[in-house]
Amino acid sequence: SNAKAEEKTYIIATDVTFAPFEFQDENGDFVGIDMDLLKAIAEDQGFKYQVRPLGFNAAVQALEAKQVDAVIAGMSITDERKLKFDFSDPYFDSGVIMAVDEDNNKVSSYEDLKGERVAVKTGTEGAAFAQSIQDKYGFKVVTFDDSANMYEDVKTGNSIACFDDYPVLAYGVKQGNGLKIVTDKESGSSYGFAVAKGENAELLQMFNDGLSNLKASGEYQKILDKYLETGD
Ligand code: GLN
Repeated sequence: SNAKAEEKTYIIATDVTFAPFEFQDENGDFVGIDMDLLKAIAEDQGFKYQVRPLGFNAAVQALEAKQVDAVIAGMSITDERKLKFDFSDPYFDSGVIMAVDEDNNKVSSYEDLKGERVAVKTGTEGAAFAQSIQDKYGFKVVTFDDSANMYEDVKTGNSIACFDDYPVLAYGVKQGNGLKIVTDKESGSSYGFAVAKGENAELLQMFNDGLSNLKASGEYQKILDKYLETGD
């Protein structure tokens, strides 16, 4: 391993609440698939890091401004983002889906959104998807900085629906967040660990090498199972 990497403490930004990828446990510690993967990869590769839970859009902005070294936040690898960021190998397949209040029996398709407010999270693939269909289906988009506030807006009835990543909404619904999924998943991008374009190539290489080692050892699957196989 590399002497420079051993000295440096990388600053890695993440979302505030995006279970099962990053969220605070009862002790206030940040846990989840992203957090556990990062920890295991850092141990495997021998680098130090600090996590900064800034919120998704703020994390992406901070990376673009080179105020942080990397982002791990269920961040989708998109062609548009590849112009600004270098991504690791994909580590989780995702996609966007719509949810409504669990007691709402009126909305079961995009057609039913006509004239309604739809909640999205700033700077996300879900927001981009909602914006791409809002004229066609005649709804108004309202933005939130984090998923919890976006879900709350649907729960209180201010918004009729929201768009978020399928694995996150499915996990939340299973945990009883009061929402339900009524449409099919839209095809979406996979998640990757991101660094600013042309920066931190060494960190990116360590992430990829560590991810590959974790996959080979079975540790990667163990981390996924810990959060996704709830046993019920
Ligand atoms: N995967 C989505 C995106 O990259 C949302 C990420 C998030 O909200 N943390 O846009």
